Amino acid sequence: MTSLIVLDDEFAFADFVAKVASSAGFDATVAETAMDFRRLTERTWPRVLVLDLYMPDTDGIELLRELRERQCDSRIILLSGTDGRVLDAAYRLGGELGLSMAEKLTKPVRAPDLRRLLESLRGDRPQPTAESLAAAIAADRLFLLYQPKVELKSGRILGVEALVRWRDDDGTVIPPDSFIPLAESAGLIDTLTDWVVRAALCQAGRWQGRGLDLHMAVNLSAGNLHDRHLPDRVARYCAENGVSPESVTLELTETASSKDSATMLEVLGRFRLKGFRLSIDDFGTGYSSVAQLLRLPFSELKIDKSFVSEIGRSREADIVAKTLIDMARNLGLVTVAEGVESDRSLTALRAWECAMAQGYLFSRPAEAEAVERMLPPQ
Ligand code: C2E
Ligand code: MG
Ligand code: MG
Repeated sequence: MTSLIVLDDEFAFADFVAKVASSAGFDATVAETAMDFRRLTERTWPRVLVLDLYMPDTDGIELLRELRERQCDSRIILLSGTDGRVLDAAYRLGGELGLSMAEKLTKPVRAPDLRRLLESLRGDRPQPTAESLAAAIAADRLFLLYQPKVELKSGRILGVEALVRWRDDDGTVIPPDSFIPLAESAGLIDTLTDWVVRAALCQAGRWQGRGLDLHMAVNLSAGNLHDRHLPDRVARYCAENGVSPESVTLELTETASSKDSATMLEVLGRFRLKGFRLSIDDFGTGYSSVAQLLRLPFSELKIDKSFVSEIGRSREADIVAKTLIDMARNLGLVTVAEGVESDRSLTALRAWECAMAQGYLFSRPAEAEAVERMLPPQ
C-alpha cells in the first residue's frame, strides 16, 4: 500500500488528514514531533509527506533543508494555519531546493479537496513521459473544458477560457499542471498549443455559427512566443472557423522567464495588430510583473487566484486585489478576478468595480454543452 506521513503537532488535524488519506488508499501514519518524524523516515521515504510549517521543535523551512540533505524523494504537501505569504515562500523554496513539492494548503482544508489531491498523488499510475504525451496529442486524447468568464455588472457570461485535459488510456483525466511543464521541457509545447488553439477555435466557430456570442480565451506558454509564425497560424485557424480575432484572447503567464525578448515582442505585437486580445494571467505571482505589464501590449489583467481566494479573510489580500483593480482600470485594462469561490469575495470585487470574474462560485471548467445550458435561452 502507498504510504503517507503527516507531521503536525495539532493532533486533531493530523488525525483528520490521516483519515482522509486512508480513504484515498494510503497507509497513513501521524508524527506529532520532528523527532518522531525522523525516526519514521530513517530508512525509507513515504510516497507523500504532509508537513505543517509551524512545529514547536523545528520550523518548516529548516525542515525542508533537512529533507534535501537527506535526499527525500517524497511528494510534499505543505500546510499552514495562517500566513499565506510564508507558506508561498516556503513552497517556492522547496521547489528551488529540488524537492518534489506537490501542493500548498491553508487550514482549514476541506476533506473532498484533500482526498482528490491525495488520490492524484497515489502514484499507482505511471508518470507521463514525453513519448506518452506525444502519442496522446497525436491520438486526440486531449480534450478541452471551458470555464465561463462572467461580467460582474450584468452577471452575464461574456466568454469562456479553454483549459486542456488529457484522458489517459484507463479513462483517468490528467490535469494540465501534470503535463504542461513536461510539454514545455520536452519540446512538445508548440504541438500541444496548436492542438488546443484549433480545438478551441473550432468550438468558438460552432458557437458563433449558432448565434452564441462567446469570447474564447486560450492559454499560451512562454515557449510558444519564440515561434514567429504563431500569429499567422492562429489567424488562419480563426479564418477557417469563421471566428474574428477580436473575440479571441490569448492568456500569458511567465513571460518574464522568456529569454528571447525581441521575438516575444514581435509575436505579441503581431497578435495585437491582427486584432487578438492579450491577457496577463496569474498577475501578482512571481512570474508577472508591472514592468512587463507596461512593456507588453496587454488588454486584460487576471488577478491571481491566490489573492482572490483570500479576499475578506486577509487584509493584505484585500489591499492587493483592490489596488490591482484600480491600477488596471487606470491603465485601460479589463480586470478579471480568477478563482472566485465565495460570495464574500464576489461582494468585495463588485464594490471595487472589478469588471469580470471567473471561479467555482459561477462554474467549474465544464464541457461545451454544459456551458450552453448556462446561457440564457436564445
Ligand atoms: P490558469 O490559466 O490560471 O487557469 C485557471 C486555473 O484555475 C484552472 O486550473 C481552473 O480550473 C482553476 N480555477 C478556476 N476557478 C477556480 C476556483 O474558483 N478555485 C480554484 N481553486 N481553482 C480555480 P486548470 O484547468 O487545472 O489549469 C491550470 C493551469 O494550467 C492554467 O492556469 C494554465 O496556466 C495551464 N493551462 C491549462 N490549459 C492550458 C493550455 O491549453 N495551454 C497552456 N499552455 N497552459 C494551460
Ligand atoms: Mg489562464
Ligand atoms: Mg491564472
